Amino acid sequence: MTDQANQTPSPSDLPGVDEFLRLVEDCCAPLALKKKVVRGLIDSLRGRILAGGDVAAADLEPAALVRSFDAALARAERPCFRRVINATGVVVHTNLGRSVLPDTALEMIAMVGGGYSNLEFDLDTGRRGSRYSLVADLVCEITGAEAALVVNNNAAAVMLCLDTLARGREVIVSRGQLVEIGGSFRIPDVMSRTGAILKEVGATNRTHLRDYEAAISENTAMLLKVHTSNYRIIGFASEVAGTELAVLAHRHGLPVMEDLGSGCIVDLSRYGLTREPTVREVVESGVDLVTFSGDKLLGGPQAGIIVGRRDLVEKIRKNPMNRALRIDKFTLAGLEAVFRLYRDEVEAVRRIPTLSMLACSADELKKRARRLARRIAAAEIPAETRVVPTVSRVGGGALPDQDLAGYAVTVRPERMTVAELERRLRRLDTPVIARIEEGRLLLDVRTVADGEVRELAAALAAALGGTE
Ligand SMILES: *Cc1c(COP(=O)(O)O)cnc(C)c1O
Repeated sequence: MTDQANQTPSPSDLPGVDEFLRLVEDCCAPLALKKKVVRGLIDSLRGRILAGGDVAAADLEPAALVRSFDAALARAERPCFRRVINATGVVVHTNLGRSVLPDTALEMIAMVGGGYSNLEFDLDTGRRGSRYSLVADLVCEITGAEAALVVNNNAAAVMLCLDTLARGREVIVSRGQLVEIGGSFRIPDVMSRTGAILKEVGATNRTHLRDYEAAISENTAMLLKVHTSNYRIIGFASEVAGTELAVLAHRHGLPVMEDLGSGCIVDLSRYGLTREPTVREVVESGVDLVTFSGDKLLGGPQAGIIVGRRDLVEKIRKNPMNRALRIDKFTLAGLEAVFRLYRDEVEAVRRIPTLSMLACSADELKKRARRLARRIAAAEIPAETRVVPTVSRVGGGALPDQDLAGYAVTVRPERMTVAELERRLRRLDTPVIARIEEGRLLLDVRTVADGEVRELAAALAAALGGTE
């Protein structure tokens, strides 16, 4: 290395775009992409030099520039949307895609995506059919409802129902249920967008049947109950049951709607979780319309499901807004497959990943954590690892006070900070998302599939600079 190579370069030492491109002439990537990568590299080097940064003259030598180019090109050619390994233990992780679909759903999606389908074609009559009819019967069979309609997500389902049935009229809601769900879905805001008029009743912690009754007028369109999915009021609190609301509403000739949020189909208390009313129970309670998500506790693709009284669902289906919120063929395919699995509850819990992750026993998780720890130990990486009990979360705003007892592997790196390790794992080709707890990296194995254990150990070895 020459003396010059040790000096700090200035921006005028940077190569021009054309000069840089000549260095990578042999690379056969499209010219436009090469230009984009080269410009990005020059800009980044200039930024680092101006910030008084870490650029040495050696970094500007041709061989070094070509190496930087190769790495940057590889990053640019890698898809932006990638699979990640979820080691957070949060099962319905909204930032990580919420639901992992069962195999049967993936097969259906590949099948309808790879060819033509009867999406809107009635195979019996040979005429135009309705995409909505493909899953409606199945959803009714599983939930016990008279009619069903599926839209893009639950936020859309709520909007569509309010727009159809309550535009310009009052909707009575308890003050304790004016919730905000992540991503700016707030009941009062949604309501004002649809032109429905919010009529709040009761107090934050307690609302009584008489509060609803006193608020009913000739301008009332419906009574709305919202599942306070993501928080709980504990202590001196009460809300009115759907059954009672239904009796009151029906006496006044009004419908009741319940936004269930998550919406579970099987009684999860059988698997050690908090008891939540199932969609079927809510339908049976007399509520006229129920809306819930496809990708929370249901474990399917993103969708909003509306079930309930036939005349109301028909009206909602005919709303022109429905066309803008309509569900696509991949979602329909995935949703049908998932609902089919619910015909047999045991199969559903075994084969729908969301449910099997929630129902996974602590014993099983301990075994998985030990397997991971053994693999990490075999890689002889510079870190201290341990298998520890931990608490995972349901996520997705569902069952917020539910503690899921499980196991994790903690990692304390010897040659870097834990924050650096966390960052490196996030930047791998298949990123690993983990949390830091008490100065250690915590890999919660509840959300790591058995088939991902080996990959996770290898990822850790790569991030820590060892080899497996
Ligand atoms: C999650 C949730 C929504 C929004 O559902 P998306 O499917 O995410 O659009 C609406 N209401 C409640 C009560 C929820 O929990």
